[in-house]
Amino acid sequence: MSETTHTLTFLGTGASCGVPSFYCGCKACDEARQNPLAARDCSDLLISGTQNTLIDAAPELRLQLIREQVGSIDQLVVTHGHFDHIGGIPQLEYYVKLRAGAPVPVYAGQQTMETIKRQFGFMIDALDLNQLAVFQTIELDGVSYTALPATHGGDAFGYLIRTSVTKAAYFPDTGPLPVEVLAYLDDLDLLIVDSTFCGRNWMPHSHHSVDEAVKLSQQLQAKKTYLTHLSMHYDTPTTLVELKRQLSGYGGAIQVAYDGLRIGI
Ligand SMILES: [Zn+2]
Ligand SMILES: [Zn+2]
Ligand SMILES: [Zn+2]
Repeated sequence: MSETTHTLTFLGTGASCGVPSFYCGCKACDEARQNPLAARDCSDLLISGTQNTLIDAAPELRLQLIREQVGSIDQLVVTHGHFDHIGGIPQLEYYVKLRAGAPVPVYAGQQTMETIKRQFGFMIDALDLNQLAVFQTIELDGVSYTALPATHGGDAFGYLIRTSVTKAAYFPDTGPLPVEVLAYLDDLDLLIVDSTFCGRNWMPHSHHSVDEAVKLSQQLQAKKTYLTHLSMHYDTPTTLVELKRQLSGYGGAIQVAYDGLRIGI
């Protein structure tokens, strides 16, 4: 593979309840209380080249950016309007007012855009909203992003993310992918996919279980897969140690993402 041009950082890799969940004493949450490497914020990504592009803004965004020593955000690309993916947007208000001086460009589908306007009307002057159509491709900082429909209600998107050397797909929240989407996902260097449930999938129409994510990875023959948006404790509490053991048979091709993981793309 040629030299990578950008860095993809997993800011958060948990489902909306986070790991540990404050109300839960299962073995997965207890493991995360004892080992910070097993703890997970809500899911979002940072893609850095000469600019910093956020994919979603988790409620923990401020702490994530401090942890990763990120001092500027050039744009935000949003998958969908659920709180665990947009709850951090207000953290950008004073960044715009006191530092950036210009609204942050935001790219999202029409319904997601409406949700952002409704939820964050008090700071709407800090956001430069740009509506994305399904299958539309935009280019930001030398990376192309194609909005692909996810199976998650409303106009939730996953993104095909392409640099000059890497073809990646990011689907943090999705049930089984539509056939027309699968056609975009051949020859993937990197698949990053919803693995919300360990054991039984409570929401098979809007999420994947770990086993279903593994099946999708094998179906697509992605060169490398990272599981993300993990609850770790629904339906069957599973520790990180156990999950890694479960995935050890795939020769490193299928791995668990973790908060702070960086990869070149
Ligand atoms: Zn738990
Ligand atoms: Zn969601
Ligand atoms: Zn989510």
